[in-house]
Amino acid sequence: MDNLQAYPQLVPVFQDIENIIGKDTYDMWLRPAAFEYAGTTLTISLPNQFWGKTIRERYQHIITDAFLKHLGAEITIVYQVAQQEPAPAVTSAKDVIAAAPEYFSQPAKPTAAPSAAPASEPFPSNLIPSFTFENFIEAPSNRFAYKAAEAAATNLGNRANNPLFIYSSPGLGKTHLMHAIGNKILQDNPNAQVLYMSGEEFVSEYIKALTNKSHDSFRQKCRTLDCFLVDDIQFIVGKAASEEEFFHTFNALFDKNKQIVFSSDRTPQQLELEERLSSRLLSGLPTEIKKPNLETRIAILRQKRNSIHVDIGDDVLSFIAEGVQTNVRELEGSLLRLVAYCRMQGVTPTISIAKELLADILVSGNDLSINVNAIKKVVGKRFSIKMEDFNSKRKTQSIAWPRQIAMYLTTELTDMSLPEIGREFNRDHSTVVHARDVVKEKVDADPFFAAEINQLILDIKAVDNK
Ligand code: ADP
Ligand code: MG
Repeated sequence: MDNLQAYPQLVPVFQDIENIIGKDTYDMWLRPAAFEYAGTTLTISLPNQFWGKTIRERYQHIITDAFLKHLGAEITIVYQVAQQEPAPAVTSAKDVIAAAPEYFSQPAKPTAAPSAAPASEPFPSNLIPSFTFENFIEAPSNRFAYKAAEAAATNLGNRANNPLFIYSSPGLGKTHLMHAIGNKILQDNPNAQVLYMSGEEFVSEYIKALTNKSHDSFRQKCRTLDCFLVDDIQFIVGKAASEEEFFHTFNALFDKNKQIVFSSDRTPQQLELEERLSSRLLSGLPTEIKKPNLETRIAILRQKRNSIHVDIGDDVLSFIAEGVQTNVRELEGSLLRLVAYCRMQGVTPTISIAKELLADILVSGNDLSINVNAIKKVVGKRFSIKMEDFNSKRKTQSIAWPRQIAMYLTTELTDMSLPEIGREFNRDHSTVVHARDVVKEKVDADPFFAAEINQLILDIKAVDNK
């Protein structure tokens, strides 16, 4: 933890944060940061604004929890963009600057050596290497945008995909796809000039350029690109001078057949662009990302689970996927919150913990209190056994196995204690523990069985809903 040399007391805090979010994620987001800690304020210096936004949205609560846990301190976090010339007092800011080019300009290929970055690159591309096509789950809701993005990245400037406009409601993958385009272009050609910017950054850089009288170099930078990725373009709309500048930038690039990709959380109709701008900007390919269906949400959570190497069952993932329906960012955030909580408590994630912890986010379908009779009814129907078989002493496998499944589901879906569950099945609590463990083991080991359990859970909820 080189960036903590000045603050040895923070090493265990950040060690804990690393344990919670996983080494890869920590290396990606927090290792390149510089920290200053004074009073109860933690200042985090980062390579760009986007970085700070991501940390704030995804990891801030984990950082503040860890400070509270280790130092008893309720901290305030201040984010700042690291200066090109680091102030001498912040010794570790050097690390940020040194690490930044790798993070910016490297294709997200594990094999690429840092020296592969083009030495002549005059400015960072602002790309986040972890947003790639490979880790974007392609699904019916985003297939068109995904394919168009891939085509734009491999066939730069082709009229069929140029300009490419991706729109959707927030949190559905626009930014991810834009970075994926940039990363793919640099992977194929490390000398390509690619720049990612949010609309907000475009406006503020433009204003800065006007104030500093560096307008020409700003122009030069934007108009000599091979690919310009402008995210959340709605920020430019209505700001007359910036809109004008963007229009000219657009024309300069477009006339040279350079690739332009932009995004918005508004539809083309809602964007309210000036007439001449809209006729040019929307002349290419507007593509929408829709809300993901349940299967896609589960697939995204599984991929996230694998990337952060956590031990969390498919049943719990399905539960989250069902409860968080509209926004992938929130979906991922819920998973991270659950993982962080369980790591801190030293427990394995379960549906009941998820239910309690995420109560404020999950849609109401998950707030139902499920009763044991609904579980018996659904499991009984599925395995063709009678209600009374669950409580009988019969031990034949065709009855014992569904009974164990019902006990497992009761531990997962209700708040009942183990002895209470035992009484419901005419057994003692150690039998419930055994049933829970064997079924859980199979859920973890066998994806087909996990899918079957998930279906049972859906059916149980449907019964309870009536
Ligand atoms: P937007 O820009 O539309 O608001 P983002 O691109 O920031 O959304 O996506 C929010 C989060 O969800 C990101 O962490 C992103 O990686 C993830 N995400 C969205 N869609 C997918 C997908 N199809 N596969 C994998 N991750 C996704
Ligand atoms: Mg975005």
